[in-house]
Parts: sequence; structure tokens; C-alpha cells
Amino acid sequence: MRYLDEYRDPAAVQKYVDLIARTTTREWTIMEICGGQTHSIVRYGLETLLPKEITLVHGPGCPVCVTPLAMIDRAIILASRPEILFASFGDMLRVPGSERDLLSVKAAGGDVRMVYSPLDAVRMAAVNPEKEVVFFAIGFETTAPANAMAVREAHRQGLKNFSILCSHVLVPPAIEAILSASDNRIQAFLAAGHVCTVMGYREYIPLSARFRTPIVVTGFEPVDILHGLSMTIRQLEEGRYVTENGYTRAVTEEGNVPAQRLLQEVFEPSDREWRGIGMIPMSGYRLREKYRKFDAEYRYDLAYVTAQESPLCIAGEILKGLRKPLQCPAFGTACTPEHPLGAPMVSAEGACAAYFHYRRVTTP
Ligand code: SF4
Repeated sequence: MRYLDEYRDPAAVQKYVDLIARTTTREWTIMEICGGQTHSIVRYGLETLLPKEITLVHGPGCPVCVTPLAMIDRAIILASRPEILFASFGDMLRVPGSERDLLSVKAAGGDVRMVYSPLDAVRMAAVNPEKEVVFFAIGFETTAPANAMAVREAHRQGLKNFSILCSHVLVPPAIEAILSASDNRIQAFLAAGHVCTVMGYREYIPLSARFRTPIVVTGFEPVDILHGLSMTIRQLEEGRYVTENGYTRAVTEEGNVPAQRLLQEVFEPSDREWRGIGMIPMSGYRLREKYRKFDAEYRYDLAYVTAQESPLCIAGEILKGLRKPLQCPAFGTACTPEHPLGAPMVSAEGACAAYFHYRRVTTP
């Protein structure tokens, strides 16, 4: 038996489906934060197993989706410069900027390289002293420690030709922004298990209390998600509003303390633009003064770059849980994975791409 089999076991799935059916008496709208969870929900058709009173909406937890278009344009500008070796994880290479993507820059002769770790980019800087190496550092708290380690390592080695284009975002401020909005309809959250593996879940406890909203730390397999949903719905039905941990095999309340110390050392919270949502105060990371020389935006003065989103794309409403992909008029027509109008269609973790690929959900 593979390790994952028990979390995809049909009997265990049915047990949770029955439990949720017995527990549910009213309509509830629940948001899963993470794109990985969205992918599992749509891929396995989990929503179709739930009582009709339960509505799942898909949150802003896809790192590619929330990276602003202007930031992608900045990456493309940098990658097009002859002195720059631009390194990125593979998922950003075909995300369209305003006019083209990083892969087309590479096809035109740009030095764009896919890496599996930011430390690979540090090594490239060490062995290519004639090049300026820039790493595209995007994502949530999950990927931030490795990027912090890369910057600290470049600092330790005294590298002068390494920098990161930083677009890190943080989950708790996004939850706070969604719950504070006047049009909010989310009554509970499944928090992202991998983010909490790093950060723990203490930050969520005051949010549950302040907004009277259950938050349940949840994993990514079908049984994990149904388990998290059962805990969430039980809280809602009982009128309890606390943060609980439904992913105990990976998450502790305090999280990975050495990783948090590393983040504290290298990064500081800052205001951050989220694609489709806009500016959320103190919702991202930027490099601290000590490491500012490794900040590509600071080094290359890219603040002038702005971008205009497609007027057809309603990604912002989808990422805030106000609408679902099938409610977008462009879904599957003007917008497909081959010709995406917005990031939720291009990223494997994007809600629109998940709906397009699996199409198990028949009602918006
Ligand atoms: S289907 Fe395409 S256009 Fe519509 S919201 Fe999703 S990414 Fe945007």
C-alpha cells in the first residue's frame, strides 16, 4: 500500500460523506484557501458528494494566480536583458505577461532557466560571475523559507551578482481582507496544511474569534478534505468559532520554528498587491534592510512597470469566493489553458484550470 492510499480510501471517504450528511441542517458557504485543495475537490468530484446545503468556494491560495501581472511583466523585462540569467520554477515560465511569457523570451534567446530550488540559482551565480542571476521568488509561506535561505547563502558567500524578484504573499492577511469585505459570504475556511506546516496555526486563532469564523487546518487528499469539512461543519452547526487542526500528521500549533526564525531574519512584512484582489496591507514579505541589495526591484528600479488586466477576466471575484469559474462568460471559450486570459486558467493549481480539466462540477 502506498502512503497516500489510506487518504483516498473509498470506505473512509464514504464514512466522512455520511457524517457530513448527518451533521448538516442548514446552508453553509466554506472557502478552501489553497489551490492544491481546490484541485483535489474538483478532480475527485468531492463537492458532488456533499449535501446540497454545502457550497464550496475557491480561495486565493494559488501562488501563480495571485502574482500580479505587472510582476510577471517585470520578470519578462529582466529576463530579456542580455546580462541577466533569469531563474524560475517551471510553473511561472508559461504564465502570460501583458504581451508574452518567459518561455517566449527564452525562445528568442534570453537566458531563462528552470530550477528546482532557489539554491540552484545561487550556485549559478557562483559559477557565472559574468552574469547577473535573478530568481523569481513567488509564493506563500510554504516556499518563503527556501528563498530566505538562498538570500542568506548568497550573503554568506559574498555574491554580488544574485538577487530575487520577490512577490511573496501571506495567508492570514488575505483571510482578514476577505472577512472584512462588505460583500463577504464566507462562513468558514479550510486553512492550507502546507502553509501551517511552516507557520503553525496560532495566527489564525484571533481571526476565528474576531470574525466568529471557524478555521480548520486541512490537508490535500480526499479523506483529509472531507475530514476538515466535517470539523468545520460541526463547528458551524454548534455555533462555535475556533481554529482547529485537522491535519495533525503534518501540522503543530507552533509550526517549524527554525524556518520561522529564518523568515524573520531575512524578510519583513510589507504591503503587497494580489492579482485580482488588489493591495492588502502587510500581506507580503520584502527583504530586510540588511539583505536589500539582493532585491531585484530595488536593484533594477522596476517600480514604473504597470499592467492592465483583461476586462473579460473575473479572477478577482473568483479568488474572493464571490463567483465560480463556470460563472465566467469567457470560461472555455475566449479563455482556455492554451489561451488563458487570467492566471487561474494557466496555473495547474488555478480554479479555472481545475474546472476545465476535470469538468466534474455541473452547476456553477
Ligand atoms: S475563466 Fe479565464 S477569464 Fe474567466 S476568470 Fe478564469 S482565468 Fe479569468
